Amino acid sequence: MSTQPTIAAEFEAAFPGSRAAHARALHLFPSGITHDTRRADPFPLTCTHGEGAYKWDVDGHRLLDYAMAHGGLLLGHSHPAVVEAVRAQAGAGLQLGASTLVEAEWARRIIGLVPCAEHVRFTSSGTEATLLALRVARAATGRSRVVKLAGHYHGWHDDALPGTSLPVSALPPPGSPPNPNLIVVPQGDLAAMRAALAGGDVAAVILEPTGAAWGAVPLAPAAVAAYRELCDQHGTLLVFDEVVTGFRWSARCAQDLIGVTPDLTALAKVVAGGLPGGAIAGPADLLAVLAFRSDPALAKVEHYGTYNAHPLAAAAGTVTLDLLADGALIGATHRRAAELRAALGEVFARVGTPGYVYGQASTFIMLLDPESDDPVVLKRGIKGARSAALHCAMLLEGVHLYRGCGLLSIAHGDEELQLTVSALERSLRRMQAQGVIA
Ligand code: PLP
Repeated sequence: MSTQPTIAAEFEAAFPGSRAAHARALHLFPSGITHDTRRADPFPLTCTHGEGAYKWDVDGHRLLDYAMAHGGLLLGHSHPAVVEAVRAQAGAGLQLGASTLVEAEWARRIIGLVPCAEHVRFTSSGTEATLLALRVARAATGRSRVVKLAGHYHGWHDDALPGTSLPVSALPPPGSPPNPNLIVVPQGDLAAMRAALAGGDVAAVILEPTGAAWGAVPLAPAAVAAYRELCDQHGTLLVFDEVVTGFRWSARCAQDLIGVTPDLTALAKVVAGGLPGGAIAGPADLLAVLAFRSDPALAKVEHYGTYNAHPLAAAAGTVTLDLLADGALIGATHRRAAELRAALGEVFARVGTPGYVYGQASTFIMLLDPESDDPVVLKRGIKGARSAALHCAMLLEGVHLYRGCGLLSIAHGDEELQLTVSALERSLRRMQAQGVIA
């Protein structure tokens, strides 16, 4: 009989600081966390600082990070140029309550890179960006209804959250009212989209252009092109949510790779260099619904927000986009992620357990099942006890997965790839030995 402690027991013993911090946090926050995806069994990590591809927890472990600020830190933790820009801006004023030169610089970078962008409006998050994009679309078209694709996540407002989990629930999420203006159609089902648009009352179709959950359920570019055509036929605006894909898939965003230009793009994460910030971008005549009119009888879309175009986010975003603009760093992360996906896939073969690795751009997604194309399986990811065991086993090896997935930064190099591959092999063998996986 094996004398090795269980993964759970060893994890509990090795991360006492996180366990204690979580116990205290339970008195402060619902479930002791401040973001639903930070939930983890038996408890989440509490971290102190990060640098490059790594972050450190309260127990002093150095952990290779694949969460990378929920995808925002393509340049890695505390990139010196970003830190310097933020420091300089902080010294010059945190929030000036006025227009700034740095917000104009930030907007110029976005307009120079994003195919659909002529004008920009800044928000404080991705959720606010999709909310504003849909409001602009409704104002511009004079229509109320919105179509989203099942499984696609656009933040947590009432036009975004329903239909995010698969299978789609008939009930609105707790706290959201019934929303007759929101139609959820299955991803890739063109007949359903055609039917949804047929009434001529849909303001916008919003979607993640590479598929639900940054491509966990991949969406073929041809389907995106078909959505573009259907929107044009019905006078409906096409909104791309590029909160994750923007400046990660390409310096000109996923829309450039796919070859389909949306009417509006929602941005956040990388665009703000890891600081709280977002934006919508689109043609000037569309964003004109936000502009004051000379005729006071003509109402505009009202948009406030104390932290819109926050100077620290503007400074971080501007320097981040400058570093990414020529595409070289982005291309390097794509190549490394492809290498990593292949190497992790070989681990499953070597260990001889069902499972596979896939993903696009600088991401990877792991599943501990035989290969499947069922959207429910792909969107759900690794389930229950296996998910907790893999998460804890990888942390014991010094790797912090993001719910069985990973988003790379430019700081993830060869050494980090090697570390990840051996960590996965040891973790899977251990899970196998303990009967968690076949
Ligand atoms: N859209 C997508 C595709 C996202 O992945 C996210 C967040 O993960 C959002 C929107 C919401 O962005 P935020 O968390 O900044 O509100």
